Amino acid sequence: MSIKENLEKIKKTIPEDVTLVAVSKTKPTEAILEAYHSGHRIFGENKIQEMAEKHAALPKDILWHMIGHVQRNKVKYMAPFVNLIHGVDSYKLLQEINKQAKKNNRAINCLLQIKIAAEDTKFGLNSTEALQILQHDTFKTLNNIQVVGVMGMATFTNNTTQVTQEFKTLKTVFNQLKQVHADLNIISMGMSGDYELAIQCGSNMIRVGSSIFGARN
Ligand SMILES: *Cc1c(COP(=O)(O)O)cnc(C)c1O
Repeated sequence: MSIKENLEKIKKTIPEDVTLVAVSKTKPTEAILEAYHSGHRIFGENKIQEMAEKHAALPKDILWHMIGHVQRNKVKYMAPFVNLIHGVDSYKLLQEINKQAKKNNRAINCLLQIKIAAEDTKFGLNSTEALQILQHDTFKTLNNIQVVGVMGMATFTNNTTQVTQEFKTLKTVFNQLKQVHADLNIISMGMSGDYELAIQCGSNMIRVGSSIFGARN
């Protein structure tokens, strides 16, 4: 099936209020353009340099999401254009994003990455650490960022009981955090292998790569 057909198939099966991020990491600009010409505008990348190069080469109405781990010294390269940063996992990173957004005269939307997987290779905060960020003394002075939700990645396993439990944990953490920060609206969870389950557990933003663009090398 073509990229266009894959996109249409997925969009038909997900509720209207669920945002589909087409994860285009490692894929060439031609593949992104094919999705673009079928009407899709939201793309996710996990490397800042690759995203910046694609941003420069592609139509400017694309909304670029950074879904990977973010190093503070590279924030400046995406600050002029990035639409949503999914992987915020420290207050220091949030401060740097605020600083670079301010330099560019804009506000950048961010999600707090919550660690829900059992594997210790996955980055992320626990609910206490996330609360501490939202309640930090100087959080309200960060006028050039908006924390609009949470993001999480389940364990890479076909044990659906475990994955379900992890997704439900993210939904619970979201509810807790929303009590202190009403601006939270996004729950980014679910990839090619598990997005239907994620939606059942409360996801309203899914990040899908290989089911749209084919397997990566
Ligand atoms: C690569 C990636 C995805 C997409 O994975 P697929 O299994 O190809 O859908 C989603 N989220 C993150 C954070 C990723 O790095």
